[in-house]
Amino acid sequence: MVWFDRIREADPELFGMLVEELKRQREGLEMIPSENFTSMAVMQAVGSVLTNKYSEGYSGKRYYGGNQFIDKIERLAIARAKALFVVPHANVQPYSGSPANFAVYMALCKPGDTIMGQNLTDGGHLTHGWKTSVTGKLFNSVPYHVRPDGYIDIDEARRLAKENRPVLIWVGSTAYTRRFPFEEFGEIADETGAYLAADISHISGLVAGGVHQSPAKFVHIITTTTHKTLRGPRGAMIMVTEKGLEKDPGLDDKIDKAVFPGLQGGPHDHVTAGIAAALLEASKPEFSEYAKQIVRNARALASSLDSNGIRLVTGGTDNHMVLIDLTPMGRGTGIFVQEALDYVGITTNKNTIPNDPSSAFYPSGIRLGTPALTTRGMKEKEMDIIGAMIARSIFAVKGYEMPEAKEDRQGYIMTFRESISKNAELAKVREEVAALCSSFPLYPEIR
Ligand SMILES: *Cc1c(COP(=O)(O)O)cnc(C)c1O
Repeated sequence: MVWFDRIREADPELFGMLVEELKRQREGLEMIPSENFTSMAVMQAVGSVLTNKYSEGYSGKRYYGGNQFIDKIERLAIARAKALFVVPHANVQPYSGSPANFAVYMALCKPGDTIMGQNLTDGGHLTHGWKTSVTGKLFNSVPYHVRPDGYIDIDEARRLAKENRPVLIWVGSTAYTRRFPFEEFGEIADETGAYLAADISHISGLVAGGVHQSPAKFVHIITTTTHKTLRGPRGAMIMVTEKGLEKDPGLDDKIDKAVFPGLQGGPHDHVTAGIAAALLEASKPEFSEYAKQIVRNARALASSLDSNGIRLVTGGTDNHMVLIDLTPMGRGTGIFVQEALDYVGITTNKNTIPNDPSSAFYPSGIRLGTPALTTRGMKEKEMDIIGAMIARSIFAVKGYEMPEAKEDRQGYIMTFRESISKNAELAKVREEVAALCSSFPLYPEIR
């Protein structure tokens, strides 16, 4: 299949950039836990004629004509979402995870209401009430935390909920490697009268594949992005559970009205089609096998890192993600390790760790995930090798530590960048990464 051939003719400048990105994806190890490689079917749906259509409203209730086929496609995506996650209501229109979460606030809260979510530097998401997000500005945000051992402090969450009586509680986050205690949060919501929303953006593919408990029985609302472990296009869904409809029989309607007309205009119908395609894939036995392999790979990666002398938050993982605690290497060294790994061709992201001694911009952790590598066909054997390569890269830049004085930092980073290009150990790892990637071709049908 010749891809991009029309772009090549019409816009060589853009074409060159797309080819470079394809090459980057092929020749590196993609270990950002929120990323994945969609199927060609999903990409074709997203690149289809559906991008031409306006369809504000919902199936059968549109503000524009010509929506007879769009209606069918949206209903198909909704039916597949409901069947896969076993929920009575699904909205597939949110543009992405953050707007989906905003829609939940819009449906349930008034400005000034109290809300609760996992603190950002403890692994939580910006949209769960962090101070720089509009959700932390419009609402009275009372965050809960993780304990010193890295696990969610459910006792603190219960106490804070009883003291503060939030309207809405979030469970689910973005840098947490253990099972989410959905059942316990369900009890807290029942005891305090709060709405409980599970944001399963990171783990929805694991839930669909049966390797993480589903929150459906315990929460009122489920939000998820569709582009992480679920392996669909960039988009999101909001689902209402049976428990949600029991608490509030109008909840499905409130959610739909919050998405449109509350927050958005026309849905991205091409993405809706991509979501439908991804949901069909996720309902197949092969996808369960994929989800299981993601977790096996994450465990293998964790044990390789551990045996190579790298410390992990909570000591390991139950899901697709591993969080490296770099504090033994110094304070705020995440940036140096991220750059060293980038140089060798391993794409990761620096992240805060619980009780980070540094800041959110110069954090002391590295977040890694296995969904994308698992899509490429890698297994435990490769994870073992990759864990060792990551450990070698970390030790190769040991000793670099962020200067205390803010004005010295930029210069220090520049010197560091110079040094990595001359580091012999990193040069060796870089060659090994390239060799490994070449035996796991990505999108071989694209030429
Ligand atoms: C990724 C993520 C989001 C936001 O998704 P975007 O599509 O980036 O807006 C929200 N919540 C959680 C827990 C996430 O991991």
